[in-house]
Amino acid sequence: MKAIAVFPGKPNSIHLADLPMPQVADIPEGRGVLVKVLRVGVDGTDKEINAAEYGAAPPGYDFLTLGHESFGRVVEVGPQVRGLAAGDYVVATVRRPGASIYDTIGTYDMTTDATYYERGISLLHGFLTEYYVDDPEYIVKLPAGLQTVGVLLEPTSVVEKGIAQAYEIQRRLKVWRPARAAVLGAGTLGLLATLALRLRGLEVTTLARSAPPTLNSELVEALGARYLSTRALPLRQAAELHGPFDIIFEATGASSVAFEGMEALGRNGVLVLTGISGGDRMIEVPGDRILLGFVLGNKVAVGSVNANRVYFERGVQDMALATLQYPGWLERLLTHPVRGLDNYAEMMRLLTEEQRAIKVFVEVSE
Ligand code: BGC
Ligand code: ZN
Repeated sequence: MKAIAVFPGKPNSIHLADLPMPQVADIPEGRGVLVKVLRVGVDGTDKEINAAEYGAAPPGYDFLTLGHESFGRVVEVGPQVRGLAAGDYVVATVRRPGASIYDTIGTYDMTTDATYYERGISLLHGFLTEYYVDDPEYIVKLPAGLQTVGVLLEPTSVVEKGIAQAYEIQRRLKVWRPARAAVLGAGTLGLLATLALRLRGLEVTTLARSAPPTLNSELVEALGARYLSTRALPLRQAAELHGPFDIIFEATGASSVAFEGMEALGRNGVLVLTGISGGDRMIEVPGDRILLGFVLGNKVAVGSVNANRVYFERGVQDMALATLQYPGWLERLLTHPVRGLDNYAEMMRLLTEEQRAIKVFVEVSE
């Protein structure tokens, strides 16, 4: 069976690899779920793995199958599988548990292990292939009504976790009633964060570099949120005009933007950091002002990575609500389809060169 793979550590090594067809019996105790892959989304993580910034092959292999944003259909289940059946539309979670206490209670997204296991990223093959098999613990079912947008569930789960973390932390305030939010970045994560915050009734200002109108700015405005170009209005001024921001969701991965977020955050506010990049840039920040504002304002900043199945399930709920409240909106994120695993070079080209792409995804099978 075909798989889009890289040789980790070797830049631009994307190629077509060959994997054996997985079997239901590969998973012990009759718990195998065999899934036919329909679509797989790609993002900056795949780009950075192909650039050899990180990524690790599974033990016994010299290559790593890419792809962590899956969408597929169950083909066959083992005798001990409950709640999933052939024909179901499903998405798999990305991380698999390690050994820390957080892993043992199902919150593998909170692992403290130095080595972590993520399908398509670190030590486990991903989903850019024809079939995969996994345990039902890591497979989340979607209603058939979400089949056209199901490939967006993994990035949605990352947003859901970040927002859930913010609300959980803010229980410290007893009466937290967030009214205004800022989202930094208007790529897939920024757009999905804008959606999730609008669904919770917040007034949302989404800031990105590009001057409007762009598809991204139109998508922000279609949610009843405000789009601002930081070239026209820097975040600090935007906070004076449209804040105070009770929650800021950082989705650019630029460290300078993250520190600007700390400065622009309102009193008692929470800053959620989800963007990352593999670099090690040094930057200058107004440290005293940020520190003073944080202490005198009782502010919080929290990092959030990955998502366990609870957040995938919340993602399904929000995506279902979104299709009712903003019909056709999620579909508009799926800008760049690539037909078939054979077109991996085109997939990487779109991912690295197409500035206007929101979501590049591979149509692995009909
Ligand atoms: C994925 C996450 C993953 C993270 C770090 C992101 O692109 O969406 O699931 O945990 O990369 O590897
Ligand atoms: Zn990702």
